[in-house]
Amino acid sequence: MTETPLRYMEYAVTLAEAPKEVSLTIAVSNCVFRCSGCHSPYLWEDKGELLLPALPGLIRTYAGLISCVCFMGEGQNPSE
Ligand code: SF4
Repeated sequence: MTETPLRYMEYAVTLAEAPKEVSLTIAVSNCVFRCSGCHSPYLWEDKGELLLPALPGLIRTYAGLISCVCFMGEGQNPSE
């Protein structure tokens, strides 16, 4: 089986995702759970930018501001 690389749709620096942390919150696409009342149904499709190549640059950009990284959505690639 070929695994689909993780992709993300958007990101933001947020204060509410993790208690007492400033989070770089990244919305990962290709969620397969289809929860009733999903807060982000736009994450159900497999689209967006490749996550792994972009992640180091995103962290470097916000390194002086963030204290953690949060991934929203449930991208389906257990090896990444
Ligand atoms: S993005 Fe979150 S809430 Fe929406 S279907 Fe996936 S796991 Fe459920």
